[in-house]
Amino acid sequence: MGFSFFCSRINVLLLLAFCSSCKFIQGPMDFEPLKILQTTASASLDFGRIFFNSPSAVLRPQNPEEIYQLLTFLSASSFSKVTVAARGAGHSIHGQAQALNGIVIEMDSLPPSIKIHRKRDGEPGLSYADVSGGALWVDLLRESLKVGLAPRSWTDYLYLSIGGTLSNAGISGQTFKYGPQISNVLQLDVVTGRGELVTCSPIQGPDLFYSVLGGLGQFGVITSARILLQDAPEKVKWIRAFYDNFEIFTKDQELLVSMENKVDYVEGFMVLNEQSLQGSSVSFPSYMGFIQQRHATSSDVFYCIEFAVHCHLEKESSVDQVVEEISKQLSYMPSFIYSVEVSYFDFLNRVRMEEMSLRSRGLWEVSHPWLNMLVPKSGIAQFRDLLLENISPHTFEGHILIYPILRNKWNSNTSAVLPESGDDNVIYIVSVLRSANPTTCSSKCLADLLDQNGRVIEAATESRIGAKQYLCHLSLERQWRKHFGGKWERFLTRKSEFDPLHILAPGQGIFQRKN
Ligand code: FAD
Repeated sequence: MGFSFFCSRINVLLLLAFCSSCKFIQGPMDFEPLKILQTTASASLDFGRIFFNSPSAVLRPQNPEEIYQLLTFLSASSFSKVTVAARGAGHSIHGQAQALNGIVIEMDSLPPSIKIHRKRDGEPGLSYADVSGGALWVDLLRESLKVGLAPRSWTDYLYLSIGGTLSNAGISGQTFKYGPQISNVLQLDVVTGRGELVTCSPIQGPDLFYSVLGGLGQFGVITSARILLQDAPEKVKWIRAFYDNFEIFTKDQELLVSMENKVDYVEGFMVLNEQSLQGSSVSFPSYMGFIQQRHATSSDVFYCIEFAVHCHLEKESSVDQVVEEISKQLSYMPSFIYSVEVSYFDFLNRVRMEEMSLRSRGLWEVSHPWLNMLVPKSGIAQFRDLLLENISPHTFEGHILIYPILRNKWNSNTSAVLPESGDDNVIYIVSVLRSANPTTCSSKCLADLLDQNGRVIEAATESRIGAKQYLCHLSLERQWRKHFGGKWERFLTRKSEFDPLHILAPGQGIFQRKN
């Protein structure tokens, strides 16, 4: 075929004609404009509300074969310039699941299949669940808890898709102990950019398996994942301790992550103002004592460590003792320690409470100029100073999470990127989770916040601090090359092997579609 199309909308129409059995919701030319507007609008929207790239069509597959059919057709038709993005829950910040004038595959339309395999006594290996790539982590939790099991590694928020977080890493307070979610996967079913439907694992097709994990959607669409499970605790003892000294705060966090036999979860956050204590803290009793102390001191910024210990019914009596033993070794501000006991489900689902509260005040569906950085231990104090130079503690709206994870719990074969500098096993994840409240933050103010983030990223990724972005947003090849560092050549090789025409995940802005 020696002709080419310049208008990608025409390409999509052509594709619709060829792929007649796929269930597309076509964009502007459909017969029911209202329905279409809504449908294509959702595919051009994400949690960030900063980018709004409209696709030309949306595929709502009823089974993985339809995704296979689409990618087989596209990878075989050298005249088409159509790109394709899988969309999980659309909780990206910078349009990563969008496809301007391309096709968005809405993964939530796949049947939400979750099959639990509980390991029998004497059986080798571990319990696991086979889950559809578009299922949400909260659905997997609900289903696995019915038989007393649960995944080991989490994100803070559970309404994210399995395929979406496995394309990044999936980090939370359990990461120091079990590694990120991508370290807790046994097998994947993937439709590659070449249009092949492959089952892969560390043994069978390891190249594809490790490429896809942390692979930013570049190599294939995850249609199913086999996730490791463990016995779920019934309850969780959840502790918060306050600090007015950053060095002591990080020292205690590092002590906690060295106690993986006792501690099940470690996070922490900056207390910049009273709003920093809202949200998930509804589970905690009043912080009045701490707030009075805060007003009485000259310190602007405080820090809070969160840690948790699982309570299994048969060992319930010893949990308080374990918490006491751990707490004794910490150097928090005297008497500023608080604890609650909650069900395991409520603990894991804690951000949902915050979501509900923000939704009720109209503050959930707003722009989110978030910034996530992975900072080596050697640069964390400088990074904190850099952050505080760039934000104003009194007016900051949102949360700043800071907690350590351990490099040796990550598999370096995956596509995920960690800081390269230093020999530090300890790396801090710092998440600046800011909301741009439309009543107080105009579009100019949003642009200023994004500029501020840009300045922090630029300074933090220099060798002095040596940080890397997590959930990156970059637009130039030289920026991606710097981001991947020593992993760039391997990333390129993998791309040419599994998606040589650069069809997949254009919203990441790494590759241009080839003819
Ligand atoms: P989407 O935004 O839909 O997609 C993200 C990327 O993955 C896109 O490039 C997309 O094309 C690709 N993709 C999606 N599905 C598939 C698939 N099946 N196969 C291949 N590629 C696919 N992250 C953490 O690590 N820890 C946290 O604690 C955490 N908390 C969060 C809390 C909130 C409120 C929000 C909004 C985000 C949070 N995140 C966290 C970030 C989150 O993990 C990522 O944004 C993730 O991509 C969201 O998943 P999703 O299903 O919404 O992905």
